[in-house]
Amino acid sequence: MKDEIDDQHFDVAVVGGGAAGCACAVMLARKGKRVLVLEGGARVLTKLAATGNGRCNASNADMSPSHYNAPEFVAPALASFGVDDTRGFFASLGVALRETEGRIYPYGNNSGCVVNALVAALGDCEVRVSARVTAIERRGDIWSASASVDGKTRVYSAKRAVFACGSNATSGTDSLSLMSALGVGVTERVPAIAPLPTNVFKGASGVRAYAEGTLYADGAPVAKKRGEALMRDDAVSGMLAMELSSAYARALRKGARAFELKLDFAPDFTDEEMARIFAASPVREARVAPIGFVPRALGEKLAALAGISGGAKTADRIDALCAAMRPTVKISGTPSVKQAQVVCGGLALDDFCPTTMMSRLHNGLYAIGEALDVDGDCGGYNLQWAWSSAAACARSIAEER
Ligand SMILES: Cc1cc2nc3c(=O)[nH]c(=O)nc-3n(C[C@H](O)[C@H](O)[C@H](O)COP(=O)(O)OP(=O)(O)OC[C@H]3O[C@@H](n4cnc5c(N)ncnc54)[C@H](O)[C@@H]3O)c2cc1C
Repeated sequence: MKDEIDDQHFDVAVVGGGAAGCACAVMLARKGKRVLVLEGGARVLTKLAATGNGRCNASNADMSPSHYNAPEFVAPALASFGVDDTRGFFASLGVALRETEGRIYPYGNNSGCVVNALVAALGDCEVRVSARVTAIERRGDIWSASASVDGKTRVYSAKRAVFACGSNATSGTDSLSLMSALGVGVTERVPAIAPLPTNVFKGASGVRAYAEGTLYADGAPVAKKRGEALMRDDAVSGMLAMELSSAYARALRKGARAFELKLDFAPDFTDEEMARIFAASPVREARVAPIGFVPRALGEKLAALAGISGGAKTADRIDALCAAMRPTVKISGTPSVKQAQVVCGGLALDDFCPTTMMSRLHNGLYAIGEALDVDGDCGGYNLQWAWSSAAACARSIAEER
């Protein structure tokens, strides 16, 4: 079928209407650019709407580059558009923010506040949804994006192209091949910010408990965090696992192969203190004694792992229970990309300028957000990267002569 050429001419075509693409489009439109956004899904910002369990953890008060896999690459964009600039950008969109333990959310604790404000601001751009881009090409000084729309291929052209297609986290598919077709390097993608697979807690699924977790890669500790762990039949999830899993992904990409998670369900207590509490508890059965620290289903599971399925609280069983409260579990297999919030990997950073986000191979071609091989820790760092990289790109395009 013949391609339909769109005869409108844009200053910038943004491919991907996610957090980074939409923010960049809004920033460019405010600088007077004629912007086209091409979004493959039926709506823009679907992933943003799901962030932070629907609350949208949009940034973090501690914006050190060390929270990212590639601190040197992210540093210039974070320095020129950091957390205060994010506050300013959202204020300019009419969105109030608030901070809880360093994490920054919309004041109403609802991602819809951010999504609706960005959608309103996109009113100054041309937005095409259900327009999945199948090729990005350079035609002389002009960039063209071919998109499949209503079963036909439409070709859109612009002076500049911004690749903002995000990652395969949750969707399972990505569009990096559009960039590799242009010779841009791509690194392996592995799930990060995802539940850590293990079947050790089968039977205690849905139970939440406070714990300290230490992740070991090939025997060496690579990350330690405290927080809420959520047991599942096939994984440890919850904030604790999500926070540790970025270290998992980064170590995996560096070649580590064996992973273990040491969980301590009583990190503020010595074995002696715990033993005294178990002994003093009115509970008679040994396997139920941990209920003062963890929910019963988990306590019985930990007791069973220590070989205690019945019997009274003898001194030996109490000692075994103390050890059982600090189990080391093997992480069996790689987390699922469909359950991951972000991936570690993407467009090779050597091919992009960290202050402008422009390709070092192609003048006028940019990449922003999670499409790049940038992943941040759990806690607002990935959205901050979306805003910061969008701002760096928009500034660079706007300042061109
Ligand atoms: C469940 C969940 C919760 C999260 N919570 C948080 C959080 O609270 N805080 C935080 O910092 N981060 C969070 N993240 C991560 C964060 O959402 C992402 O890092 C961020 O959305 C990346 O923005 P992006 O614009 O680069 O990519 P995306 O938001 O993924 O947007 C990419 C867009 O490009 C479109 N697209 C892809 N291919 C094509 C194509 N060929 N043609 C046209 N369009 C295309 C996609 O449909 C998509 O709309 C969460 C992620 C998930 C999945």
